[in-house]
Amino acid sequence: MAKNKKRVGIFSLTCDEGCSILLTEIFNTKLLEWLEKIKLVYFLSIKDKTEIVDLDIALVEGSVTTVKDKKDIEKIRKNTKILIGMGNCAITGMPSCQRNNFNKEQMEEIKDHLQKFKFLPKCLAAKEAVKLDDEIPGCPIIEEKFVEIFEKYI
Ligand code: SF4
Repeated sequence: MAKNKKRVGIFSLTCDEGCSILLTEIFNTKLLEWLEKIKLVYFLSIKDKTEIVDLDIALVEGSVTTVKDKKDIEKIRKNTKILIGMGNCAITGMPSCQRNNFNKEQMEEIKDHLQKFKFLPKCLAAKEAVKLDDEIPGCPIIEEKFVEIFEKYI
């Protein structure tokens, strides 16, 4: 029975992690039920022993802001069957990608910071960097939508 459980990973790119915080609240009421069907193999908010291998479902919050974010989301995409964008940052880039709307002076002010931390020239929604199979909107995620969409895949 256990071997048929869906392997699930939850990932945070650049953002305030508000969606995964809300998700821990959803887990308070739903995780025990879901653990009948899933194995949570990656979620740094609640477990530190993790692996990004052979996932059935990956949920990702945040935007692709740095070179590391881009490598991470590409690795996640390669290692999961289903990739779900969790929250508006992953789907539209906003609000995490506000720097894309900065004027020249504002960009000049943050130029050194962007170089130091290897930021990409343009901040991307996860959806712009890789293909998403589904989306859970909201900032943070709408709880009912999360449950509805997640339960489609488990
Ligand atoms: S969508 Fe909102 S709550 Fe979710 S990570 Fe982005 S800023 Fe935070």
